[in-house]
Amino acid sequence: MRDMRDKRVLVITPHPDDAESGAGGTIAKWSSLGADIVLVVCTNGDKGTSDRNVSSQEIAATRRQEQLESAKVLGLTNVVFLDHSDQGIENGEPFRKELVREIRSHRPDIVLTIDPERKWVRHQDHFVTGRVALDAVFPYARDYLAYPDLIDEGLEPHKTLEVYLWGTDDPDTFIDIDDHFEDKINALYCHASQMSSSKADGTVRIRNRFSAYGPKVNAEVAEAFKRLELRS
Ligand SMILES: [Zn+2]
Repeated sequence: MRDMRDKRVLVITPHPDDAESGAGGTIAKWSSLGADIVLVVCTNGDKGTSDRNVSSQEIAATRRQEQLESAKVLGLTNVVFLDHSDQGIENGEPFRKELVREIRSHRPDIVLTIDPERKWVRHQDHFVTGRVALDAVFPYARDYLAYPDLIDEGLEPHKTLEVYLWGTDDPDTFIDIDDHFEDKINALYCHASQMSSSKADGTVRIRNRFSAYGPKVNAEVAEAFKRLELRS
């Protein structure tokens, strides 16, 4: 098992609940192994209800609270809310600069985010978050002449050497989450406003889905990633 003590990890999630869904077991595991993990939540999820009696502001406030509860389950103490409107982020400024700011502030060894390149059906926020996070890692956070005003604020360039993408069509890295599957479920079910099935039914469904990857690492359940190594 790799040594995660004091490893700095930046998790960049499009919506509250996506990181848990794709990588909650891994986040809980790395956190328990001593990694220093910051969660950046890009949108506030304010379109995430079909209840016509609930306003955007109300669902956003609910989801913020749910995200904070979930972060506790995952062992995280640092959650950054960028607070973009759901379905409201675009590939470009100012979103890219915000992610560069987070990378240069937290200076991660590993960035964990969503794979932007789903072939057919994909949520635009998922595509934009994954794409812009990768662009922010390389080259924008790295380059001295990109965003010189951030350097004036003390945010020096930073090279991230590893990226893990969840929700990928092309996984090549599998992480045993047997000891943290329950954390994943508990964290996901903190997002009660987004859960359409009971916890018991959801647990069976999610276990089935992630048990497909278990045999890759001699585990019952595993999470799957595309891992990218960047040159130092
Ligand atoms: Zn999402």
